[in-house]
Amino acid sequence: MLTITKHHRGAAATAALTATLLATVLGAAHPAEASASHAKSIPTGATSSKVDPHVRATIDHRMGKKAISFLGTDLAKHAKRSHISSAQLKKLLTDDHSVRVDEAGNLEASDGAGGTGAIVTTGKADTLVWPINQTQLLHSRPGATKKIYLDFNGHTTTGTQWNTDVGRTSFTTPVWSRDGDLSTFNTAEAAAIQAAYSSVAEDFAPFDVDVTTQDPGVEGLRKSSASDTSYGIRVVVGKNTWLNVLNSGFAKFYSFSWNNDTPAYCFADANTPTKQIAECISHETGHTVGLFHDGQAGVTDYYKGHANWAPIMGDSYSRAMTQWSRGQYPGANNTQDDLSVIGSYLGWVPDDYAGTTATTATLPAGTTRSGKISYGSGEYDAFKFSLGSTRTVNIQSWEGFQQVDTNLNSRVQVTNSAGTVIATSSPSGNTRTNMNVTLAAGTYYVFVDGVGENTASTGYTNYDSMGYYNLLLQFV
Ligand SMILES: [Zn+2]
Repeated sequence: MLTITKHHRGAAATAALTATLLATVLGAAHPAEASASHAKSIPTGATSSKVDPHVRATIDHRMGKKAISFLGTDLAKHAKRSHISSAQLKKLLTDDHSVRVDEAGNLEASDGAGGTGAIVTTGKADTLVWPINQTQLLHSRPGATKKIYLDFNGHTTTGTQWNTDVGRTSFTTPVWSRDGDLSTFNTAEAAAIQAAYSSVAEDFAPFDVDVTTQDPGVEGLRKSSASDTSYGIRVVVGKNTWLNVLNSGFAKFYSFSWNNDTPAYCFADANTPTKQIAECISHETGHTVGLFHDGQAGVTDYYKGHANWAPIMGDSYSRAMTQWSRGQYPGANNTQDDLSVIGSYLGWVPDDYAGTTATTATLPAGTTRSGKISYGSGEYDAFKFSLGSTRTVNIQSWEGFQQVDTNLNSRVQVTNSAGTVIATSSPSGNTRTNMNVTLAAGTYYVFVDGVGENTASTGYTNYDSMGYYNLLLQFV
């Protein structure tokens, strides 16, 4: 059991008080939440016939042509910020009514309640990767000043546009729970949080941002001035008790850098699969830095993918391999370069292992190297090893940690000192690699990079084949 902490509230007694308050809120929960209905396709903005009158939907927000005319000259500004043309933004707003304009003129995503396919997991049960007491202390990049805070421990929203939207000065999303006990995360809940965190960290691995489960505090989330470099987004994960729509998520565009603590929301209850939670967090965070939906012209606002692949800004709940996209799949309606947009907002991480033989790291037998591929096809990590006599070596690469899914499809190549490729492992249908190779005495290099699978129509390109890997050489 892990006692849930609310760091930004200071007093230890607050957690218990919060739990009591949240239980009260839960008691008033309206019946419209999407429990056990993830597999149903529900039109965006659909309302339940049984609605708690105290809970109000965000209503009357402008869609389509109304949104375009309301934005007026701001439309060009938003388009520029999202790295698309004004014409493209007009088309997206015309076609995609899940993106609309709120009363204050902000673009907002109101995401439907999930796809029609079965929610795919890796087949791995959620297991604790870190000690349970670290669950609310995880950091993917502790030194980064920009934060994506995964807030599973309940949040009361005040003073934001959301409050204006729903006509309530304060509303509370309860602690996310599967067992109904809001005072602790049990082992299964902690494992799910760790798995969701890992998956989101993988999605944002190329960027200079800290994905964290530890509350950075309001000052660590709001951008108080142009010179403030410590800011980010709070993604609240919990049961929907305050909005009478069957949605999976909500986000305001560009709110990542707003000057108040305006969260994005992923609605999740006891039955929401970890995969859905993980995908939703990255999707909503994508909106907060300016990403629009990846749909298919005339077919859907949310492309559900093909084979084992789907775009994060589409509907990625039912595919194992989910990545950022620039609309390379068939019928794509949005060629927005997701990586470029996120990178311009967050910055890119510096390279960890050099990609050239001149400055490469070593790969001693039996020592696992953990690295990160961060610049797509241009980014290689290189390692050097030497053999004193002819040996057979086994070289393997696998995902960085227990992600719900990996973004990196790793390829490993062995070259001799002249740079000639001697052996390659990049098995079809497998993001890991594994090979045995027999080599004479000499110096060799191991190159790791990220590759695609088949074509953009039947698989995916190497566009976002980036993320964490482990690499190990052993003598056979
Ligand atoms: Zn969305």
